[in-house]
Amino acid sequence: MGAAAIASPKPIVVATRGLKKTYFGKVETPVLHGIDIEVYAGEFVAIIGQSGSGKSTLLNILGALDVPTEGTVLIDGVDIATLSEDGLADLRNRVIGFVFQFHYLLNELSCLENVLTPITIARGEASEEEKSYVAALLDRVGLAEQIHKHPDAMSGGQNQRCAIIRALANQPKIVLADEPTGNLDSRSGNEVFNIMREMNREKGVAFIMVTHDDRLAQEADRILAIEDGWVNEVDKRAHRMKVLSSLSDS
Ligand code: ADP
Ligand code: MG
Repeated sequence: MGAAAIASPKPIVVATRGLKKTYFGKVETPVLHGIDIEVYAGEFVAIIGQSGSGKSTLLNILGALDVPTEGTVLIDGVDIATLSEDGLADLRNRVIGFVFQFHYLLNELSCLENVLTPITIARGEASEEEKSYVAALLDRVGLAEQIHKHPDAMSGGQNQRCAIIRALANQPKIVLADEPTGNLDSRSGNEVFNIMREMNREKGVAFIMVTHDDRLAQEADRILAIEDGWVNEVDKRAHRMKVLSSLSDS
């Protein structure tokens, strides 16, 4: 480690430059017009925006699940356009964890086995150390009794907590979460969000979470809004006023 590392600020784990995305279907749909964002190590960033504004499109591109029409994505300092298919698969497996609105756990596997899949995909079999690491995390999020249950025997909130620990199993630097609470009632949604926030703080993993819920967005370190294909940083104090006034309306 050189002298530069001592004085340097937190590293940037996700950066985009001039990111554009147009879908070319029967009609041409321009979605992202030129997105420049930076996310620092250990940050929790919320992405908000109207339905259809391009939130999932952006998240999928950040996770190398889709390619931009133009522009650059740097993940952990690497321009992902330079990676081979194997390199991309490795990045998705080791550097990034994913959580979606639906948990996508495999019903044939127990909660613990599901959580271990990123490890077994990467290395064939999980070591005893890795097994105890994820078992401790499952315990930590209140799933100690559930580890041998299968997804269809667990509640929506339990499945989503299991999916979060699966996203963390390989100790990624970044978790991308696309409306992770969107399919849950508000109580389980809050629990799931709190777990993500705690894991973010404890493990120093950066989270980028798309949400419709302004109250949850308010709990993030920063809020980015996608509007008309562009991203704007939202002033959290102004956003707080909006949340408070919507609470007093209801
Ligand atoms: P959000 O997640 O903010 O609701 P999306 O990123 O899913 O928005 O979609 C943004 C826009 O792109 C929408 O108009 C949607 O219809 C369109 N879109 C998304 N995926 C595709 C696709 N695979 N092909 C064509 N259009 C798409
Ligand atoms: Mg979406």
